[in-house]
Amino acid sequence: MDTVIKNTKQYSYELDKETLNELLIIGKKYTKVKNYVYSRFSGINSILLLGKDRKIRDEWVKTRFYEQWNLPARYWKLALSEAMVNIKSGWSNIKLRIKEQVKVNPNLSSDDKHYINYILKSNKLYHKILRNKKIDIPKVFEGKRLKYKYLNNLIKRYTRKYKGRMPYSNKSTIFSIDTGLYSYKDGYINITGLRKGKRLPIKLTDNNIRNKTLKVKIVGNKLEIHCPLKVKCKNHKDYENIIGIDKGYKYLFAVSSDKFYGEKSNDYLSKETERLNQVNSQRNRFYALYNNHLENGNIQKATNILENNLGKIKYNHNKLKNDQRVKSYINQYLNQLIETEKPKEIVMENLDFVNWNNKYPKSVKRKLSRWIKGYIRERLEYKCDYNNIKYTYINPAYTSKVCNICGQFGQRNGDVFKCSNCGNLHADINASKNILNRKYDKVISLYTKYSKVKEILEKRIS
Ligand SMILES: [Zn+2]
Repeated sequence: MDTVIKNTKQYSYELDKETLNELLIIGKKYTKVKNYVYSRFSGINSILLLGKDRKIRDEWVKTRFYEQWNLPARYWKLALSEAMVNIKSGWSNIKLRIKEQVKVNPNLSSDDKHYINYILKSNKLYHKILRNKKIDIPKVFEGKRLKYKYLNNLIKRYTRKYKGRMPYSNKSTIFSIDTGLYSYKDGYINITGLRKGKRLPIKLTDNNIRNKTLKVKIVGNKLEIHCPLKVKCKNHKDYENIIGIDKGYKYLFAVSSDKFYGEKSNDYLSKETERLNQVNSQRNRFYALYNNHLENGNIQKATNILENNLGKIKYNHNKLKNDQRVKSYINQYLNQLIETEKPKEIVMENLDFVNWNNKYPKSVKRKLSRWIKGYIRERLEYKCDYNNIKYTYINPAYTSKVCNICGQFGQRNGDVFKCSNCGNLHADINASKNILNRKYDKVISLYTKYSKVKEILEKRIS
């Protein structure tokens, strides 16, 4: 039977001030180590160090570099390897995206593609090419007379395109603990603290015992302890439908079955926007004041602001409440969608490709803050896995701009789609039907360029 990884949570009761402070300090230091690793090892030169955390660790120990962290060794070692794993998966992602692009690049021969993939497989060769160093032509390509200079430049260009910014963690309230850093006893989890041999006893609301590396998240004055656990998937024999879904404008989802899920999504999302705006202005005010004091030499006052940052505490509290509200709203309607539609397959837009720019008015776009989009996707994929539902991503180009009945280009106005042949349709339902149809489209693939899609669609109606 299939399994999925479910992120389970345990909760603590309110912590006393001393324990809370110590955990906050651990979180801060832990994050500091990670960010140091990011800044030092996420560049091109460190490609050769990937998977060799051991080497860095030994170096830190030998040179006593680790002393500056002021953290029990197990913590900084864990932070180091966690950051290295993230750097590594960053590079894997870059390679994956390059491979996708190479696959659909019409200017490349199959030998060209083979060469690029060959280079990407070897960190040594890949590194040399990014560093503009000469490489010996691999044996398999001898006599093939490829345009090596061009191909190498292409690898560099693609890498630059996908490299993105250096990873950086600004959440200092999360850290990991492996089995050597905690133990369970009598409803308590005892976590290694900063003082030698002294563990912090933390009372939990349940008696479950874990034996994996856990994530500790400090939320307000309580802890959440996250643990990934394998759970068995469900197998619904009566789930037989194939549906297309679209993120709605007034509703959370519109489905090709003509149904909507999640009313008033705008209300929920605009509350989130309002909050974000409020937070920003509050923060700006706070920093202006802080900087003022610093410039005027009022170090004490500046420090006071930092320490008694009351606005921040309030903000965190509001954020927490609101996050929870938005999350449970999304989960509730995702469940309802799955239970009602009984799908065996869900077809949706590939969010990596879509930028919502040309689909929604600015005001809505702002409302769908990035974390909400990410959260919806993550939950959708998880629930699909859990319920044994296949999910398929399609190329979303023009799915909200053409009529699903006759294929004509139409006008979208709010939630009305106007087709000159078929009259007014609901814009989101129309899009969801186009999304479903795209699955069966033999010509438009996930990688067909936006402009090319337009060309194809125009040819169809002429
Ligand atoms: Zn039409």
